[in-house]
Amino acid sequence: MSKLPNVGTTIFTVMSGLAAQHAAINLSQGFPDFDCNETLKHLVGEAMEAGYNQYAPMPGIMPLREAIAEKIRLLYGQSVNPDTEITVTPGGTYAIFTAIATVIGPGDEVIIFEPAYDSYIPNVLVNGGVPVRVPLSFPDYHIDWSLVRSKITPRTKMIMLNTPHNPTGSILTPNDIAELEKLVAEHNILILSDEVYEHLIYDGKEHLSILRYPSLLKNSFVTFSFGKVFHNTGWKMGYCIAPAHLMAEYRKVHQYLCFSVNTPMQYGLAKFLQTPDHYLSLPAFFQEKRDYFLSLMKDTRFTPLHSSGSYFQLMKYDRISDEGDKDFAIRITKEFGVASIPVSAFYEDGKDDHVVRFCFAKRNETLEKAVERLKKI
Ligand code: GLN
Repeated sequence: MSKLPNVGTTIFTVMSGLAAQHAAINLSQGFPDFDCNETLKHLVGEAMEAGYNQYAPMPGIMPLREAIAEKIRLLYGQSVNPDTEITVTPGGTYAIFTAIATVIGPGDEVIIFEPAYDSYIPNVLVNGGVPVRVPLSFPDYHIDWSLVRSKITPRTKMIMLNTPHNPTGSILTPNDIAELEKLVAEHNILILSDEVYEHLIYDGKEHLSILRYPSLLKNSFVTFSFGKVFHNTGWKMGYCIAPAHLMAEYRKVHQYLCFSVNTPMQYGLAKFLQTPDHYLSLPAFFQEKRDYFLSLMKDTRFTPLHSSGSYFQLMKYDRISDEGDKDFAIRITKEFGVASIPVSAFYEDGKDDHVVRFCFAKRNETLEKAVERLKKI
């Protein structure tokens, strides 16, 4: 018996494994190859030394929840109650699962845009829900709202968003927000907005967090990750924001899934957030990486697709080969020593537009070495 009969090992594990096996440069799984901030590491060390080594309170330590509320005020002009509307979680993926487990039951339909981060559909299925897949429009991956509307039924319970979007780098626009506002007003749909790449947004664009819009926030769970933006994916630290009535239900599930999250890291992060300079510098830091990667890739036969955010860059390879994207990604890992992610892995039916995803959250020398190899293809 299997609750997820069609699920195997995640593509991230597969491609990182293949990269290790073939000593390839790993631009597949999304994590940086540089270390996180020294001050942040020291602050966590200090918290351990100071004896903060037992269970944290179930929703997270108050200084961290207060620091998160302050950041939300500063960035999105929204006032969120740290006591009742913020819960610290072991990572963003967990925050998403818990939101789904909180509200989705047998037969509930959840609108999911594809390409979709690979945990979304299994998260819905394991809770008895019905994923309703809506393709983003290729090649700029915008949302076709008339298509969304055609999928709404009396059973539609939730719509999942991801901005900036993994793997495509597309972002929500003011028009998307207006469409969402209409939809939520007409149908009382819940929103789950995965915003783990909130600071990774480029070309002077603004992150249109759902937190900015009270008419949407009142129906929403919004999830974030410290690992993704503070270069410490191995810490598995994140958080969820929701209005008090939804958060009360969320915490009922959270308290029996992991109860509470790593205490010294919460103290370290709480202090680190007192200086916003670090997170305010992140868009420029990552834009430089993206631009550098794009400038290097000009000398290859890959064609970039447009990206406004995240630390991923999609590349078409139709000038190189007409292989399927999985075969192509595996072959270039083995033969040329650079690992990527085939984008068909983000479609349940394996839709293949002959596009692969590269992660550019890497040291410049890593990007240079990788592109030297990609030039030979
Ligand atoms: N979010 C990461 C990515 O898209 C992967 C995280 C994981 O391996 N589960 O690459």
